[in-house]
Formats: sequence, C-alpha cells, structure tokens
Amino acid sequence: MSNSISLHLRKFIAERSLNRCEYCLLPQALALHKHEPDHIIPVQHGGETNKENLAFSCMRCNRNKGPNVGSFDPETGKLVPFYNPRKQNWDEHFKIKDAIIIPLTPEARVTVMIFRLNNEDRITERKCMKEAGLL
Ligand SMILES: [Zn+2]
Repeated sequence: MSNSISLHLRKFIAERSLNRCEYCLLPQALALHKHEPDHIIPVQHGGETNKENLAFSCMRCNRNKGPNVGSFDPETGKLVPFYNPRKQNWDEHFKIKDAIIIPLTPEARVTVMIFRLNNEDRITERKCMKEAGLL
C-alpha cells in the first residue's frame, strides 16, 4: 500500500485548515518547520490516506502524537481517543487562556498531554503571536 500523499491532497488539507495546525492552531506561516498531513488514525492502525483521515499538523504535534491514537485520561484513568479534527469542533474541546490551551473534554485532555501542547516553548510562542495580534 502506498503511503504517499499527492500534491493535490496536501494542498487541500492545508487550505481546509486555513493553513493552521488543526491541533495547536499554530499558523504555517509562523512555524519553523513545514506543517505536514497527519493521519488521524495512523496507517499502522488501518488509517487510510484520504481527506477524512488527514489533518494539517505542525511538526511538533505530529511528532509528539507519533503512532498513538489516544491515551489514558489523567482525570479518570480511562482510555480515550485523541481529539479528532474531522469529527469534532476545536472550540467545543479547547479554549485558550493566557496563551495556554485548556482542555474541556477527556479527548482534549489526552491530546494536550500527549501532544505536549503546553510545553513552555509553545506557550512562549503563543504569547508572542498574541502580542503580534496573530492569535
Ligand atoms: Zn500543532
């Protein structure tokens, strides 16, 4: 099975996301590395390379996610899938306060934890973007 993503599909994924990471909302224009298509359900778990299973992701979110599909909710200990940008609405799962991404749901909690959305450098970056009126 080919895992390559066509240029056309890459362009679609980027435009659909308004050129922002669909997890941490970092704009592509402000990222050090190019954003990339993320298999929401990784290929090794049977995820397909199509519009429904791809999200636009910054490199850090994509690397931190790795081949995972979810984790244990730190509040309940239950196994929970990550936030799914194709099936769920960011604003219903997260909010940003003082440059910190606050999870509102179990899916958001495991996403914030495993994707390390609130690492110190990422919070600093968000503060800079906010000051520049970009967030
Ligand atoms: Zn990201």
